Amino acid sequence: MTNTNELLDAMRSETLALEGGAPVITHEFPRYNSLGKEEQDAVQKVMESGVLSQFLGCWHDDFYGGSKVQAFEAQCADYFGVKHAITVNSWTSGLIAAVGALDIEPGDEIIVTPWTMCASATAILHWNAIPVFADIDPQTFNLDPESVRRNISEKTRAIIAIADEFNLKIISDTAQAPAAKYKGKWAGTLGDIGGYSLNYHKHIHTGEGGVVVTNDDALAERVRLIRNHAEAVLPDREAMPINNMLGYNFRLGEIECAIGIEQLKKLNGLVESRRALAERLAEGICKLPGLSVPYVADGNTHVYYVFPLLVDPDITGVSQYQNLHLLPMYQQKTAYGSSGFPWSADFTRQDISYEKGICPVAEDMNDRTYLGFGMCTYDLTESDVDLIIQAFHKVWAHKVEMSR
Ligand SMILES: *Cc1c(COP(=O)(O)O)cnc(C)c1O
Repeated sequence: MTNTNELLDAMRSETLALEGGAPVITHEFPRYNSLGKEEQDAVQKVMESGVLSQFLGCWHDDFYGGSKVQAFEAQCADYFGVKHAITVNSWTSGLIAAVGALDIEPGDEIIVTPWTMCASATAILHWNAIPVFADIDPQTFNLDPESVRRNISEKTRAIIAIADEFNLKIISDTAQAPAAKYKGKWAGTLGDIGGYSLNYHKHIHTGEGGVVVTNDDALAERVRLIRNHAEAVLPDREAMPINNMLGYNFRLGEIECAIGIEQLKKLNGLVESRRALAERLAEGICKLPGLSVPYVADGNTHVYYVFPLLVDPDITGVSQYQNLHLLPMYQQKTAYGSSGFPWSADFTRQDISYEKGICPVAEDMNDRTYLGFGMCTYDLTESDVDLIIQAFHKVWAHKVEMSR
């Protein structure tokens, strides 16, 4: 690969595609597709069996699902090295069940990042608990422990960092990070409950779906109950705390789990190939001024669901990533009806703020500096990545010079 300055020099004489020049990238990248013959065959077998879901919502062996559900769960537990893996029909459902499984009361607070997908926070509201947004670290984009600390109140029950010190629970929304590691352990398995999304956009998928992981027997059982109409089976259960056993139908079917079994076998390879492409891209553009490539802290691995960049706002426009606290539902407090419930309720602390300014790092990234693109959107080759590198240099050769 050519070095940054040579490539910038070569690109200087070319006209930007925006201004009528020839584009660097002339073909459409093919869609990322993790499915193959293995999944087709597995689906075919389930179809032939005639049993597309075997769950029963009453107390019976099938309360825990059919053979593919149970086999996929056993394989996930084995892969992630946890006692329990529980499939759900989406990771949004998984998050709702995880929050419900904790021993929380309406008005209790859970600290969450605004730099995530909306379900991380709405899962809290489903139980009439209150999301409290803490700011993020500008390098890792993870929750900033100092900001978490400042947001802990007497009502806080769960968070994602420094939890031990305060005897709080941790739920990790590792939806986008299956097979990422922290000091040799899988992301998602370090807290009390974690999990992964199996929706169509993620590294591996079952169309829709999710997996909850935990080492805690009681939490696992409470998640399984919420997954499958808990209220109907509680009369037959003894010695179970029965608060928050508002049952849902969060069950995943046999077809999805048969696909999941095949997808899980491919996870390492798919993540490795994303990582290799992302590292090639990072190396190709890391010397461009005013651009920060993904930071990987010591002891961590990155699985590059997204390739996140920070860009000097003078150089180029940025694509935004929502800040959850700024969404209309939080600004207007309209989660349930129009009276401001649950924020307006007696059980809620009355000074919960979602004002712009509470998370300055996340807000600034969203407004000015963040540029991310999905590594699981297209099936990129090394030469595609090299074209993307060239395109960056072309934009930089023009924009940086113009802005200086
Ligand atoms: C995808 C995703 C979710 C939701 O997962 P679904 O399976 O689509 O419900 C939640 N949190 C994060 C961070 C995600 O990326």
